[in-house]
Amino acid sequence: MKIYEDARRHALTMFGILAMGVLFVIAVERIVGHSSIAFAVVAVALIIANRRSARYNCPRCGSNLFWHGWLPMPWPNSTCSKCELDLTQKDQ
Ligand SMILES: [Zn+2]
Repeated sequence: MKIYEDARRHALTMFGILAMGVLFVIAVERIVGHSSIAFAVVAVALIIANRRSARYNCPRCGSNLFWHGWLPMPWPNSTCSKCELDLTQKDQ
């Protein structure tokens, strides 16, 4: 199933953006001396970049792949947490 691979790719992209954001905040802190505005910019960028995560839903029941029961996680489920559909199979 393509949706799991897409969700996995989104999670890796988010980790990359997070790593770049941390480096950006550290660089601003060292250069300017404070990083509250840089931190806010990175937080907003992460929220905007993560809007796509709402698209990754189970094709059978509509449950989001990033929700493990009632807990949101940074990595998608390979099996739907609601209907237990295997989301890694390519033919579904
Ligand atoms: Zn499901």
